[in-house]
Amino acid sequence: MTAKPYLTRLAIWLLVSLPALTAFVFVTPADFSSAGAVLNLMGRLSGGLGLAGLLVAAVLSCRIPGFDQSFGGLTKLWQLHHKLGLSAFILLLAHPLLLAFAAAEVSLAAAADSLFSMQPTVLYGWLALLALMAFIAPTFHVFGEPDYQRWKRLHRLAAVVLMFGLLHSLMLGRTLPASWNKLLWGGLGLLALSAMAYRWLFSRYYGRYRYRICNVAAVSDNVVELSLQPLQVPLRYRPGQFIYLTPFASELLAGAGEEHPFTLSSAPSEPVLRLAIKTLGDATKALQSITPGSDVTVEGPYGCFFRQTELKTKGLWIAGGIGIVPFLSYLRHCASQHQAADVQLIYCVQDEQHLLFAPELQQLTAVIEGYHFTPHFFSRHGALDLDFITQHCSDLRARQVWICGPPPLILLSRGIVLGAGVTSGDIVTEEFTLL
Ligand SMILES: Cc1cc2nc3c(=O)[nH]c(=O)nc-3n(C[C@H](O)[C@H](O)[C@H](O)COP(=O)(O)OP(=O)(O)OC[C@H]3O[C@@H](n4cnc5c(N)ncnc54)[C@H](O)[C@@H]3O)c2cc1C
Repeated sequence: MTAKPYLTRLAIWLLVSLPALTAFVFVTPADFSSAGAVLNLMGRLSGGLGLAGLLVAAVLSCRIPGFDQSFGGLTKLWQLHHKLGLSAFILLLAHPLLLAFAAAEVSLAAAADSLFSMQPTVLYGWLALLALMAFIAPTFHVFGEPDYQRWKRLHRLAAVVLMFGLLHSLMLGRTLPASWNKLLWGGLGLLALSAMAYRWLFSRYYGRYRYRICNVAAVSDNVVELSLQPLQVPLRYRPGQFIYLTPFASELLAGAGEEHPFTLSSAPSEPVLRLAIKTLGDATKALQSITPGSDVTVEGPYGCFFRQTELKTKGLWIAGGIGIVPFLSYLRHCASQHQAADVQLIYCVQDEQHLLFAPELQQLTAVIEGYHFTPHFFSRHGALDLDFITQHCSDLRARQVWICGPPPLILLSRGIVLGAGVTSGDIVTEEFTLL
């Protein structure tokens, strides 16, 4: 049984707060004796919290298949990773400023000295902060939309940040007794180091599967469905899960050797894996014209859009565009297992031409007991609204809602069903956005 995602998130925030909480045990009245002393304490705490946030964010980036389940899936885990990284960045920017303000109580020279001291320990802190700025800056779109692959390579600077940050804390930490200091930073450092070692070294041998492309079927003018046959042990997965695909075909005009996440469109019982891929950028465009025969690596599975392979409740499924894929996988699974599914699928697209897998989605209504299919065309029906939903799903409040599609559709649909009285615990979403 996996832990509830909110409990896992709570445990993570507690882990991040551990150095600061421990520091409170060793706080003395002298730490509150003047405004400068309080600012100094805040500066030390913000540094400790910031470094702990970065170390735990590094732990979360290990991407071990299965690790994401207790977070509610990899996309949710990644959102937590981003939040930790951003909070740590703000705290670490505040850290030297607070210490300088504290020292200003003594003199301006002391403040300047605290910032620009040439002591190696202080330099380590600055090196960590500058490296952190270098790889966080693109997140704020300072230099325009970040190129994903370049941004990922920049993330390797995290190793430099953590190394100098740890050295700075171990050598300069004054809040905790030396033995506690070593224990806490050593423990968190070891966790982060193990996660990074897994990602960079051992992930080549665990959770990766070799497949060969055996069929490429055009679904529309900008979507293909690839079929992959296993070359060794096949991947085991649940409907709605996704993998990272790395193609190696030399014919590819872009994206050879690059990994990209795609949801599996096949049923788990099929002998092949299937992936429906829509053109979005250069790598997905190149995949539209790939020919059968080349090898790929598949890493995963990740995500838990559907927690079980058999729905325990009635469902309303809202899909947008290529977001139909997890639902298609689930329906193919039901059909292969002769399993009923009490679900109403509303599939939102611009117009008839953009409806993907329409004949199959329609034909499955005759095969799967309880399954109903309704297309929604923005060009004809306008934006999705409560009237449209209740017209096709009158018992909305008795249903659990799954939504997958572009972020604006997720936001809109979530707002509508929340407004209609569905609780947030009964809404599951999956975004196909930057991971
Ligand atoms: C959980 C998940 C499941 C997905 N499932 C599918 C699917 O079943 N079918 C499908 O067609 N698409 C799916 N996607 C989207 C797909 O991963 C991106 O379209 C693809 O990575 C874009 O690569 P590109 O080089 O063609 O585009 P680029 O030009 O590199 O980027 C276009 C956009 O995609 C984003 N992007 C680029 N690389 C990645 C990446 N590695 N991870 C996340 N976002 C990225 C960029 O931020 C940018 O906004 C899924 C994404 C996620 C996160």
